[in-house]
Amino acid sequence: MKTAVLNKGKEQKYLNQYPLVDEEDIYEHSHLEDGDIFHIVTDDGRYIATAYVGRQHKGLGWVLSYDAEEEINQEFFEALFEEALDYRQYYFDIDGTNAFRLFNAEGDGVGGLTIDYYDRHLLIQWYSKGIYTFRTDILEAVQAVFPYTSIFEKTRFKDSEVSSGFVTGEAPEFPIVIEENFTFYNVDLDDGPMTGIFLDQKEVRKKLRDVYAPDRSVLNLFSYTGAFSVIAAQTAAETTSVDLANRSRGLTEENFGVNGIDPKTQYIYVMDTFDFYHYAARHNKAYDTIVIDPPSFARNKKKVFTVQKDYHKLIEEALPVLNDGGTLILSTNSSALTSKAFKNMIKRTLDAQDVDFEILEAMGLPKDFKTHPHYKPSKYLKVVFVRVSEKVEEVIIEEDYYGD
Ligand code: SAH
Repeated sequence: MKTAVLNKGKEQKYLNQYPLVDEEDIYEHSHLEDGDIFHIVTDDGRYIATAYVGRQHKGLGWVLSYDAEEEINQEFFEALFEEALDYRQYYFDIDGTNAFRLFNAEGDGVGGLTIDYYDRHLLIQWYSKGIYTFRTDILEAVQAVFPYTSIFEKTRFKDSEVSSGFVTGEAPEFPIVIEENFTFYNVDLDDGPMTGIFLDQKEVRKKLRDVYAPDRSVLNLFSYTGAFSVIAAQTAAETTSVDLANRSRGLTEENFGVNGIDPKTQYIYVMDTFDFYHYAARHNKAYDTIVIDPPSFARNKKKVFTVQKDYHKLIEEALPVLNDGGTLILSTNSSALTSKAFKNMIKRTLDAQDVDFEILEAMGLPKDFKTHPHYKPSKYLKVVFVRVSEKVEEVIIEEDYYGD
């Protein structure tokens, strides 16, 4: 068994069950290769944890166990999958939802691995070369534990020798139609890095339909397949979807279609968000609710958008097209930004504008996206609902009590 010795003073962090192995905490790691299982030990040889090497953006790998005797094999994964399945029983039992996350990486005990359930079709995602080396054991365990009709996989790391796609079972014809909160969405598990729907936004979508869309005009920016628009349209007066990608129009129309909504009754623009702001302002269009859910990083021609540097512009430029008393639904999935930093950025931005505002509520990941209690970045999704209104000037009434 390979070992990795912790630098002095780092034991407590790992004894406290921090799951990500930070390269900088390890004295020497040049002997560790992708997929190696190793023991993390103190400089006097005391066992702390068992981990595997799987390099992602940050970190050398992930802790798998705190039992030196435990073997990392098919049975090990089966036991974790059983637990994960139990934890999702609620989603199997409820009506109106048949797509959700079955296994959420470090939140369920294996960083670098996720498994999603799309109406009996499973999608396994491998986030590092290291986790992919356990593929055979993991696939056996998946088939032994989870109910499925077919299994697909995606690799989320670069390696020309491995490929994504169909694994086993009866492959459906894509797109399949999945259901979430009694709303239907097209999904394709075998078409590029995205599937058509982001399952982590299910609660936010529901909140939009039930609270922030009824009888309002809803603008959905970075709309992709129109998931927010489609659910909003069930209660809204009208919806407008804006996305830069050409493909978004057809995908959005189809999603309206599978919900029995005529896409011609809704507005869809293939446009850059900032260009749309200007277009809408020129045409005196304004909205009651605006959903802003951008990618963490995007490039449009020469312009680069990053959540950390540029989110405030999305808020500032939304104000001219937001009706008085309207709601901004501000979302980010960037783990580089803490929830506190995100809220502070929102407050700072709106404070500098001539408006009154109130943060109504904030949301995060749904229950199926189980997070790790000792690893904050696993709570990557932050959604803040803000009501914005015109500034009420303070009226100073001068009275002269003593005059007559
Ligand atoms: N909010 C969506 C997911 C967004 S995915 C949902 O809930 O399903 C990110 C989307 O942003 C992609 O579809 C991409 O085409 C779009 N996008 C990237 N840069 C953009 C820009 N400058 N203006 C408008 N859309 C953009």
